[in-house]
Amino acid sequence: MRNFNNTHDMILFHQKHQYQFIINIGERFVNDLLDENGGFKTFDSFQQTYGIKTNFIEYYGIIHAIENGFHLKNTCKKLEDPVLPIAMDLLKINKKGCRIFYVVLLKAQHKKYVEDMNKWKLELQEDFTEERWKDFCALNFNFTNDVKLRWFQYRILHRILGTNDLLYKMNKRINDLCTFCKEEKETLSHLFVKCHISSRFWIMFQSHIQKYIPRRLHFTLTPIEILFGSNSDPIRCLITVLGKHHIYKSKMTEKKPDLTAFKQELKYYYNAIKYTATCNLEIQKFNKRWEGWSNIFQC
Ligand SMILES: [Zn+2]
Repeated sequence: MRNFNNTHDMILFHQKHQYQFIINIGERFVNDLLDENGGFKTFDSFQQTYGIKTNFIEYYGIIHAIENGFHLKNTCKKLEDPVLPIAMDLLKINKKGCRIFYVVLLKAQHKKYVEDMNKWKLELQEDFTEERWKDFCALNFNFTNDVKLRWFQYRILHRILGTNDLLYKMNKRINDLCTFCKEEKETLSHLFVKCHISSRFWIMFQSHIQKYIPRRLHFTLTPIEILFGSNSDPIRCLITVLGKHHIYKSKMTEKKPDLTAFKQELKYYYNAIKYTATCNLEIQKFNKRWEGWSNIFQC
């Protein structure tokens, strides 16, 4: 028997006029329509229980809508009255400590984590191990303390950044085309890597690094590094995320990414964190961290 929590869920179909009868008798939960075995009551049993006048077409109409709406294919677990929230069920099982809550939350988190990894593999046509994916996720907490940038990178990793593709699927846009080229679907990989406009931005950015930092004569970023970062150097990772952030801001303001504007942003960011490090008496640590990169802010 499948144990659904959906039985807690309210019947959301009451806006539909034809289902008003079911609200009139005070039924608000899917659970109210289940028999002791977890299946839906038959029409006769429903009529006997609630003494309501309706016809079987209306009754089975709402059962069908609930099954489709909550993706119920098997029987549900009938909950005892009064209906308790899922957290109370957990408390009944384990009366000591809160470990069980963490277990439930971690299970849900791990499922999402694997789903995200598989979606990335499919989108990039790349096969990476779960270990490598773990590294990409961990990297998000290593390259900077800046919460705004961490959150930005987190949204990319977990595919919740507002690209046109995502917004279109959420019915928030009329099409899913790329803001820059208007030719292809604006997925995360297209926006940050594959789009020829973003790609040109990265080529110019790489040339800039190669020109001003002689020891980085062969500085190049792979699509994977642009999207997920690399643990070779936290500053390299940081400026790459700042580059992506510039692309995303440009998209939001419907402008093209621009290297001159990005250089100004980078310089401003560098000076701001340098000032903070000075105030916190951490300038030596700061200089060591940025050693070899400061040339790019001189031009
Ligand atoms: Zn494009």
